[in-house]
This record gives sequence, C-alpha cells and structure tokens, in this order.
Amino acid sequence: MLNIILFGAPGCGKGTQAKRLAEHYDLYHISTGEVIRSEIARGTELGKSMEGYISRGELAPDSIVVDMVREYMSTHNDKGCIFDGFPRTTAQAEVFDKMLSECGSQVDVMIYMDVPEEELIKRILLRGKDSGRADDASEDVIRNRIEVYRAQTAVVADHYAKQNRYVGIDGFGTMDEVFARLCEVIDK
Ligand code: ADP
Repeated sequence: MLNIILFGAPGCGKGTQAKRLAEHYDLYHISTGEVIRSEIARGTELGKSMEGYISRGELAPDSIVVDMVREYMSTHNDKGCIFDGFPRTTAQAEVFDKMLSECGSQVDVMIYMDVPEEELIKRILLRGKDSGRADDASEDVIRNRIEVYRAQTAVVADHYAKQNRYVGIDGFGTMDEVFARLCEVIDK
C-alpha cells in the first residue's frame, strides 16, 4: 500500500504527473480539484456551494474537501493512492493522517515539485486556452491562487517534513524528465 501526496503550487504539473504515476505504479488517483469541478459541472448542491471559491481562486472549506476524500477512500481502499491537490492546509493534513491511521495506513511520502513562479503563470495561462477552466483564464485569479498557496498551503510541507516523509524535486524540465525524477524518489 503506497500513499503518495504530490505537492506544489498551482500549475506545477501535479495533475499530469499524478495520472502517469498512478498508471505506472497501479495506484488510484484523486484530484480534489477535479472532484470539485465535476460537482460544479453536474450542478449538484455541493458544486453550487463551491463555485464561488473556485472562481475567485480561494480554497474550498476544509470540511467539505475532507468529506470528499473520505467518501472516495471508502470505496478505493484495496490499493494505494496518489493524492493530487490534497491536503492543502495543515488542518486537512491532520484529519487526513488520522483518517489513514484509522484504517491502518499512512502517507508514505509527500513529493514537492519545485517550479519557478513565472513558469507557473505561463503554464496555467497556456492550459486555460483549451481547458475551459474559469480559474485558468485570468492572470489575477492565477496570481491569487499562487498567493493562497504561499499563505495557506506551503506550510503543509513542514507537517510532513517533521514526520520525515517529505522530498523535493526539481519540477522544471520536460514531462519525461520530471516523471523520471519522481520515479527515482518513489522507487527508493
Ligand atoms: P491547481 O493545482 O492548478 O490550483 P486544482 O485542480 O488542484 O488546480 O484546484 C483547483 C481549485 O480547487 C483550487 O484553486 C481550490 O479552489 C479548489 N481545491 C482543490 N483542492 C482543494 C483542497 N484540498 N482544499 C481546498 N480547496 C481545494
């Protein structure tokens, strides 16, 4: 059972690499951002309640996101999982650790993908051209997401560093180069 958190600022390439890693290591993959977008697209009550946060580039409330992950894990627990975009606050990380330990599991490693800020903005704007994501279209919203990351999410690295489960890699390079760096960490 291998549980991996892919961690980094918006646009660092977590989503792309998470999909590849899940396939390569035969793991589940949950992106909380994708779950939220699918709730919004389906017009559910939950989706409606989260639309505002997403479009402003703010975080959704911890309790809602944690419940989404808990629900996912109740049916995806026969093998490990890549967590992409979660946990994003220390509060989420604390509940998450507890949730895993209650089922005899744990976070094995958090891997941070380091990408310079100007590259992040460039990548997200490019993605926004065809992703149709409302939060990818405006540079102001993108900058706000990066600011929220700095203010609320970056500290989650300390949480896992204290547990000796934190590794950083250089996220700048081709998709194959970054994938190889991630595999090197996981294979260890
Ligand atoms: P990105 O990493 O490019 O920001 P995501 O798809 O991971 O893209 O997230 C998109 C948005 O979804 C975030 O800006 C935030 O509003 C919301 N979101 C995703 N995951 C979480 C989470 N764990 N906690 C709170 N909000 C979240």
